[in-house]
Amino acid sequence: MSVAPVNLLGLPRRELEGFFAQLGEKPYRAKQLMRWLYRDNVLDQEEMTDLSQGLRQKLAEQAVFTLPSVSRVQQAKDGTIKWLISVGGGQDIETVFIPEASRGTLCVSSQVGCAMDCPFCATGRQGFNRNLSAAEIIGQVLVAQRRLAEQGDSSRITNVVFMGMGEPLANFRELVPACNLLTDDLGFALSRRRVTVSTSGLVPQIYKLAEATNVALAISLHAANDVLRNELVPINRRHPIEELLQACWDYAEATNARAITFEYIMLKDVNDSVADARDLARLLKGRPAKVNLIPYNPVEGIAYGRSTQTKIDKFRQVLLDNKIMTVTRRPRGDDIDAACGQLAGRLDNKVRVPLGVRLTEKSSVHSVKQA
Ligand code: SAH
Ligand code: SF4
Repeated sequence: MSVAPVNLLGLPRRELEGFFAQLGEKPYRAKQLMRWLYRDNVLDQEEMTDLSQGLRQKLAEQAVFTLPSVSRVQQAKDGTIKWLISVGGGQDIETVFIPEASRGTLCVSSQVGCAMDCPFCATGRQGFNRNLSAAEIIGQVLVAQRRLAEQGDSSRITNVVFMGMGEPLANFRELVPACNLLTDDLGFALSRRRVTVSTSGLVPQIYKLAEATNVALAISLHAANDVLRNELVPINRRHPIEELLQACWDYAEATNARAITFEYIMLKDVNDSVADARDLARLLKGRPAKVNLIPYNPVEGIAYGRSTQTKIDKFRQVLLDNKIMTVTRRPRGDDIDAACGQLAGRLDNKVRVPLGVRLTEKSSVHSVKQA
């Protein structure tokens, strides 16, 4: 009986070793293959010259190296590039590259859509379709790397942030191998501080993440009291601020992190007063924390607006006065809807997951429909 070929792209080292073991090959084959795939960007086994002819034949029969396909590319005035990537079944996700003088940040998606339902977010508006596989997550990095090289762009991907579409911690099972591959010496060899998982606050998964990886953690806080955060980030109803912050400090300690990043979108007249800033300072003062203030990027059909620059500056000053490292993020790529929270991709068969149903990696479209 013939077996369907396995997509080896995105498989963590141990699984790749398992694959070669099944073929009767030694574990070091995994290392050789990873070097071709991730260091040399070679996806055709015929070019993998240190593999024997026999092994290349076996790979041709039993393996594939399938990259997701790009259906659209847009480049913003500031150099930000957005790729619309098809992941089959009429679904698209978005991946964004943000070049800066000293680094190149790739913002990757972890799910098709998102079930967390934050009312200000374009992705949240779409609802959830499915989790991406580790191969599809890593595929975004490979696609970006190849596309940048092809267009003669000398920018390199130095940082990867899970701030595209989806809630990465709701796709824990695929997120962890993807992170491991990003930091593996034989993978993308990024320092663990240059891979950031951003979450709306799935507390149990933060603890699990600390056991599985030691990458950087960012929390989408957006409010300094539970009443407001319940509204802005509905998962807060299940895991309120105090519980979330405790998980953060525990994460910092367990992973020896210098700081947890707190993202705070500046929403006009909603969460941007000096009193809000003081509340936030009280929560974070003296802790391993830094704050990214994100001027809200307007989304068509969503009623929230962006705080004025004066309000943002005052807010920041309160935090600085409390010795909390705070930067205001410059909106990037907003002329092509590539800025934070403007990613919408294309998504059919969407399902909404009511809060109180499962929001973990176990939630598949199937189980959600039954719920
Ligand atoms: N789901 C994860 C990661 C993806 S969202 C999370 O929520 O953390 C990445 C960041 O963009 C989050 O901080 C999110 O709150 C923010 N964001 C969402 N919509 C936005 C918008 N319209 N303008 C600015 N930031 C937005
Ligand atoms: Fe999902 Fe993050 Fe958007 Fe909330 S902000 S809906 S968690 S992608």
